[in-house]
Amino acid sequence: MAEVYHFSETGRGFLAKLESELKTEFAGCKRIAVKLHFGEPGNKTAFKPEDIEPVAGILKKLGIDFFLYDTSVSYDSPRNSTAGYKKAALEKGWGNIGEVAIDGGFVDVKMKHLTHKVGKPLADADGVLVVSHFKGHVCCGFGGAIKNLGMGGLSKKSKQDIHDGGRVEYIGGCTQCKTCERVCPLNGIKVTDKPEFNLCYGCSNCAYSCPAGAIKPKIAHFDILLAEGAGAAQSKFKKKHYVTFLKNMTKECDCERNPKMIIAPDNGLLISKDIVAIDKAAYDIITSKGKDDVFLKHNKKSGLEHVNAAEKLGMGNSSYTLVEG
Ligand code: SF4
Ligand code: SF4
Repeated sequence: MAEVYHFSETGRGFLAKLESELKTEFAGCKRIAVKLHFGEPGNKTAFKPEDIEPVAGILKKLGIDFFLYDTSVSYDSPRNSTAGYKKAALEKGWGNIGEVAIDGGFVDVKMKHLTHKVGKPLADADGVLVVSHFKGHVCCGFGGAIKNLGMGGLSKKSKQDIHDGGRVEYIGGCTQCKTCERVCPLNGIKVTDKPEFNLCYGCSNCAYSCPAGAIKPKIAHFDILLAEGAGAAQSKFKKKHYVTFLKNMTKECDCERNPKMIIAPDNGLLISKDIVAIDKAAYDIITSKGKDDVFLKHNKKSGLEHVNAAEKLGMGNSSYTLVEG
């Protein structure tokens, strides 16, 4: 069973535990990657450089060289090119924390459904510290460490492949119950004699929900493809560790320019060796073990789908011991 350490703030207890964990995990490492999301320009709830300063401070204290890393995105944004994203990150002040690296080439990793392109700097580094901001997400209910790697560690093409592969098609047998209309996070479905998909990001939620089995994803459910993306990235890491911040938890993700709605109060931060355990613990803490699933309520999609998919791939353990710090 994995251990997940929970702290109410980035105070002395957190810093002492992080130092001892990173000292052990990254012993002998000369240079590691810190995988995070620098935030869409204009977004005020994504990580700010000062959030990561304590983590960077511990790495410096331990004498571990590091760079801050993310990948460019496929949608219309200043972040959709390597140069554009780097400029946006530097304008937010990330250069004051450490070297900023975007993209830097990709290595292919073949998984069951797709061949994913994993950021080469992550594969080349002596280890990867995955620092995630836990918040809502329209396609996967919530996004934490698995999402940080399963999209954020991959090329633009791989990101698009995951969304395209989770997009749905009608295969016949509709009973006009309209369940799919109700569960689509985008309100993108209109049912007449059968469903018409007018707007779709490929979250696969309608395919899970159709009682008649009349809707199928084109390749596999979004959550399986996302978990495979994270597994592909992890398979290239020499060493890995996870830190997740439970703050500024918006309905929408850090790719939004202006996600206004905070859906849960801040609740400190977590450290773990286990990617599945840290996401499940974050979910359990924020939702009172599912009794008040604010992510499902606001985004209509259960975030547990991708956590369970990652566990099935053997990436980690959803059973964990929570150690309060
Ligand atoms: S959920 Fe399935 S059966 Fe119900 S309206 Fe949609 S496609 Fe038809
Ligand atoms: S619920 Fe269905 S139609 Fe709506 S975004 Fe998700 S996959 Fe697309």
